[in-house]
Formats: sequence, C-alpha cells, structure tokens
Amino acid sequence: MSDNPFINAQKQLELAGNILLKHATTVQQKQLIKNKLEKLHQPDRIVEVQLPVTVDNKQRIFQGFRIQYDNTLGPYKGGIRYHSQVTRDEVKALSFWMTIKCAVAGVPFGGGKGGVVVDPKKLTPDELEQLTRVYARAIATTVGAYTDVPAPDVNTNPKIMEWFVDEYTRTLKKANRKVPLAQIKAVVTGKPVEKGGSLGRTEATGKGGMYVLTEVLRHVKKTPKTLTAAVQGFGNVGYYMAQFLHEAGIKVIAVSDSKGGIYVPNGLNPQLTLECKQKNGYLAGCYCVGSVCNVRSGKPISNEELLELPVDILVPAALESQITKHNASKIKATIILEMANGPLTPEADEVLNKKKIIVIPDVLSNSGGVTVSYFEWYQNIHTQHWSQEKVFRELAKYMRKATAGVWKTHIKHNVPLRQAAFIYAIERIFKLSP
Ligand code: NAD
Repeated sequence: MSDNPFINAQKQLELAGNILLKHATTVQQKQLIKNKLEKLHQPDRIVEVQLPVTVDNKQRIFQGFRIQYDNTLGPYKGGIRYHSQVTRDEVKALSFWMTIKCAVAGVPFGGGKGGVVVDPKKLTPDELEQLTRVYARAIATTVGAYTDVPAPDVNTNPKIMEWFVDEYTRTLKKANRKVPLAQIKAVVTGKPVEKGGSLGRTEATGKGGMYVLTEVLRHVKKTPKTLTAAVQGFGNVGYYMAQFLHEAGIKVIAVSDSKGGIYVPNGLNPQLTLECKQKNGYLAGCYCVGSVCNVRSGKPISNEELLELPVDILVPAALESQITKHNASKIKATIILEMANGPLTPEADEVLNKKKIIVIPDVLSNSGGVTVSYFEWYQNIHTQHWSQEKVFRELAKYMRKATAGVWKTHIKHNVPLRQAAFIYAIERIFKLSP
C-alpha cells in the first residue's frame, strides 16, 4: 500500500471491480464491466488554476484545483479544501471518494472536489476573501448548479461559500450570462442559512452517522443502552456524534481534540463537556472543573490511548490515517464508525478485518453531510424552505436505505462493509453509465 491517496483509492476500486467481474456470466458482460471500470479509474476533468493574491503587499501565486471525477449520477459534487498539503493526487482521491459516497447515499450527484494549496491560518480575513474570490472567478465557467456544485471542506466554511456565490454572481453578470437566481444560489451548498443554506446542515453528518449506526446495531442485534463509545475529534462532526450517541443511551466514556482528551469511565455528557471546553478554551482540562462540569471522575488521556480503549464503538472523527498498521492490532472496539474521511489506512483495514472488527466505512457513515447538501441544493432550485424536522425525517430515510443496500451487498458477497459499499456504489453508477 502507498502514501499516495489516489493509489489507495484505485486499489479499492480494483478490489470491488474484481468481485463484479467474478460475477459476470458472459464474455460480453465481462468486457463491458472492464470498460466501465477503466473509465472510473481516472477523473473526467482536472482544472488547475493559478491564483494571484496580494499578501503582505506582495503578490503571491497560489495553486488551485477543481477535479470533476464522474457525473453519471448527476452534477459533480464535492467540497473545497484549503490546506498547505493539498496535492493533485489528494484532490483526485477525494473526488473519487465523493463519487462513491454520493452513489452510496443515493443522492443524484456525481463526485468532484476542489483544493487550494494554502495555509489559510497565515492569511488575514481580507486575504482569505481575496483568495476565495480569485478562485471563484477562475473556476466560474467550470461550476454551476447543474454541472458542478462545490461545498465547504477542511478549512472552508459557510462564510467562504457566501463569498464564492457573490463572486460567481458578479462574474456571470460581467460575462452577460443570464442564470435564474435559484440556480445561482444552488452553485454551492453549505451556505449560511440566511443566504440559502439548509436548516439541519450543521448537525447533519453526526445525525446521519447515528442513523447508520442504529441500523448496523439492529443487524448485529446489539442494544444501544448496553454499549460504550469513544470519540476522537470534538469539532463539528465529533461533538454532534458524541451528543447523538449520548441521547441514544450509549455511554460516551472518552472524547478528544487536537490537544488531548478526557476519559470518564462512568460516561460524560457531551453538551456539558462542550460548554466546559468553550469556557476554558480547551477540552483536556474539563474532567476536573468541579461543580460546573459533570465529568469530575475522569482523567486526561492522549489521542493514541483513546483509540485503544476497551469500548464497544470507536468513532474516529478528526483526521485521516489515525488507525494504521502500527496501532490496528491494539484496537479493542468491536465496531468502528468512520466519521472522518479516511481515518483508517488500507493496511489497518486488513488487520481489523482479520480481527472481525466491524468497520462502518466513511463513504456510508459520514454521507449524511452530502445528503443534506443535496437537500439544500433541492430547496434552492425549487425555492422551498424545509423545517429541521423535515430535513432529519428525509435524512433518516436516505441513511436507512443506504445502510440496507450496503448491508445486503455485504451479506451477498461475504465481503467487509467497505468493499460492499464500493460494490453497491459502482453497481449503481454502472446501471446508468453508457
Ligand atoms: P472540525 O475542524 O470541526 O473538527 C476537527 C476536530 O478534530 C477538532 O476538534 C480538532 O481539535 C480535532 N483534531 C485535530 N487534530 C486531531 C488529532 N491529531 N487528534 C484528535 N483530534 C484532532 O472538522 P469536522 O467538520 O468535524 O471534520 C472532521 C472530519 O470529518 C474530517 O475528516 C472531515 O473531512 C470529515 N467530514 C466532515 C463532514 C462535515 O459535514 N463537517 C462531512 C463528512 C466528513
């Protein structure tokens, strides 16, 4: 296995493809599958742009990408990442995984991804806005509500989406291109609610993860109230996931962020823990804050220790490559719910599969985010405004259907859930591809 995420993504495609080829009954069928697989091995289009921005009174050129991987199921869809480590191959891999994720979730989108090689923390807010506007202008003819729909990803947020839509609108006006307002709004998702964003988007990824987990627990005949969990990462995804686990009666005994974590064997209350973190500025001290905090019986724990706790459910919800060949054999959880993108390396997967640990893959478990992004796009296009209840009701339907499809494939082919998710997605794409 490789450190190159695109090589790993190709390997995953190959594994799933081999199962489909094994089940092809005629030579013609085999050839058709081979042709379609070949097409899926590379993106449709790579747009690479140079972005001049004035930083500290000097011009700097940043490199940007928008990669459109596959649009068999609908417009390309995927976030924009601002990070100093962004590479063309990383964006390619992420756009491929978006193709799989959208197909698993059953939303009418293909896969795409954007990236800019930049450390946004080193830019002032004005410079960040300038960079976003230059990037939006550079890819304005590439994106569109019915062609390619970006969204936030690592280090980008609703404010950045608002700047993007604004600059996109100006660019269309300058070019005299007339596009209905609804379609202009729908050019990106993840907007602030007052600018056309959807209610429920903030909680969507965690909420979706909870719906998926509930279905899997039903399949393996486990009762939530008897289970314990540890959550790595206490940001948007990790916090809501911990909160929904807690509300379902699952005892959350550890949470962590980049500065370390807390371990509370009796279980902690995520909401109070978040309040404590916000008050003190960090999570690691929250176990001992006394009367305002209900986690007094806890102790500090490192991120590495958290991953190795004897819990039923482990939720990596921070970064990629957290469970590798070096620590996979030390994992004691029986279920891993991948809420981050790519938190397990392929080598770790192999070790965990051998140990019969159930890994619920990211392309299924965190697909609640893109599903509600689809609801946002749909509301924009149809000038509708859904209540949060409706958003969650619809989300539950999509997540149950996706989990049922992946589970059925897992049983049918007797393969781990990740491979099942890839097979399920590829079959859906192939059904509609020419
Ligand atoms: P976020 O920035 O809100 O939170 C990230 C959290 O991880 C923070 O608490 C941070 O302190 C913590 N963290 C960083 N480094 C860490 C480390 N070494 N150990 C432990 N914790 C660490 O980001 P987010 O939106 O919650 O996204 C988390 C993951 O989920 C990412 O992989 C992202 O791609 C994925 N994801 C997010 C969404 C979404 O809707 N936000 C959807 C799908 C997937």
